[in-house]
Amino acid sequence: MATLERDVVVVGAGIAGLHAALTLEAAGLRVLVLEAQQRVGGRIHSMRQLGHTAEAGGTYIGAGYSRVIGAAERHGVELMDVTPILEFFREQDLAYRGEIIRQSDWPTHPANDFPAADREHMPWNYHRVLTMRANPLEDPGAWTLPQHAALDVPAHDWFRSLGLSERAIELAYGLNVSFGRNARDVSALLLLFRGAFSKSQRAAAPKDSLGYTARHGVQRICEAMAAAVQGGVELGHVVTGIAQTPDRATVHCANGLRVNAKHVVVAVPLGVLRRIALDPALPGAQAEGVANLPSQPMTQVYMAAKSRFWEQDGYAPSLFTDTQAGMLAAARNRERPSEVTSFAAWVIGDQAAALDRLSPADAGRAVIAAVEKLRPAAKGQLELLGMHSWGNDPYAGGAWAYFRPGDVTRYAATLGDAHGRLKFCGEHLAVMSRGMEGAMESAEEAVSAVLADT
Ligand SMILES: Cc1cc2nc3c(=O)[nH]c(=O)nc-3n(C[C@H](O)[C@H](O)[C@H](O)COP(=O)(O)OP(=O)(O)OC[C@H]3O[C@@H](n4cnc5c(N)ncnc54)[C@H](O)[C@@H]3O)c2cc1C
Repeated sequence: MATLERDVVVVGAGIAGLHAALTLEAAGLRVLVLEAQQRVGGRIHSMRQLGHTAEAGGTYIGAGYSRVIGAAERHGVELMDVTPILEFFREQDLAYRGEIIRQSDWPTHPANDFPAADREHMPWNYHRVLTMRANPLEDPGAWTLPQHAALDVPAHDWFRSLGLSERAIELAYGLNVSFGRNARDVSALLLLFRGAFSKSQRAAAPKDSLGYTARHGVQRICEAMAAAVQGGVELGHVVTGIAQTPDRATVHCANGLRVNAKHVVVAVPLGVLRRIALDPALPGAQAEGVANLPSQPMTQVYMAAKSRFWEQDGYAPSLFTDTQAGMLAAARNRERPSEVTSFAAWVIGDQAAALDRLSPADAGRAVIAAVEKLRPAAKGQLELLGMHSWGNDPYAGGAWAYFRPGDVTRYAATLGDAHGRLKFCGEHLAVMSRGMEGAMESAEEAVSAVLADT
């Protein structure tokens, strides 16, 4: 197969890689994007095969996401304000230890072990409330600064320092494990980074609008960005190795294609990066960080409902559960949000890892069985439509990277270092922002590093 020549090769057509490619082209460089899958977007994945658009990945665009909103505007993708729909997503009951507890009953429920002043907070939301309210970071980017290194401890210890009991921590974090297996498996600094980012987003939001999503799916933004890359986005090209000599880098694909370039922007998730052979290899702490930082298991199971079983049992259609059904979310008709169109179980952490060991059909059955056990009115009423496991996705390796206690101090400073002609980006390298906005922020850092070397 031929060897191509370019100024820059971008590996990965997620939102970070595409933003890097377009920004480099705008600076006058010849760019080629290589993407392993037959679609662009990566962890932005709008599943249209389900008959309507079900988002399996990045969905919510905060009102302060200036980069993502800017990309949608530049590339003609219409954004929809989700503020009117959000109130329906708040209508959700709690399923805890086999019992369904209505939101209105929670403040006085015997299982509620939150401090007296906070008993009205629902467990799925409470740790986020705390990281926004009691956040010592001056701004979101301060999480990596040495003066906060003392907070690179288990989130559990930080919750204890706020006076939470063991039971309250289990409720507040164990039910909705955003990162890791439990509150001992994640650095408090990562939760505080996310809390500080959410706070900054709230501050940036106009009064009447909290956030957006894209009409016909967020993947549309990535598709429109890919279409604008002049040098092209080659789908179905799995990059397996990158070698460097003093005068160039050569990117090797599984299908035999080789591309020589002055620079390579590597925009793949950490779980994938560790499988790409780099020659020379990454040095010391950076190599260790790439090899060791974990990614969060997360699996979604999509279901159709044959009847409105929630009207029979009287609970909200959506339940946040401590079972294999995870967060059972009723999908809503975007034009008429009172109408439930289908269900998705968002399963995270250990519960997702357990599902990931089953076949997709068995995982679907396990989730449906968990729902039926909780609400007998749902018996025989749910039909499996499909599923997506981010943990088993070979091009993602998990939903997002996370830092265990001590990992911020060990790895954050070197994880994104340039390695000769290789520059790195992706959500795991964001310092100021999170999610899609963070991925785009990291792309801008990688582009600056390329341009500084050109
Ligand atoms: C379930 C879920 C929900 C989320 N919800 C939100 C949300 O509501 N709001 C928000 O802001 N963020 C959300 N996020 C996070 C957001 O989607 C990600 O942070 C962001 O999309 C990551 O972009 P990226 O470009 O860094 O990585 P990716 O999107 O993972 O892009 C990497 C690309 O590299 C490709 N690739 C992998 N290996 C190779 C290889 N060997 N060769 C070539 N190409 C390769 C992949 O196929 C992929 O296209 C969510 C994520 C998940 C998983």
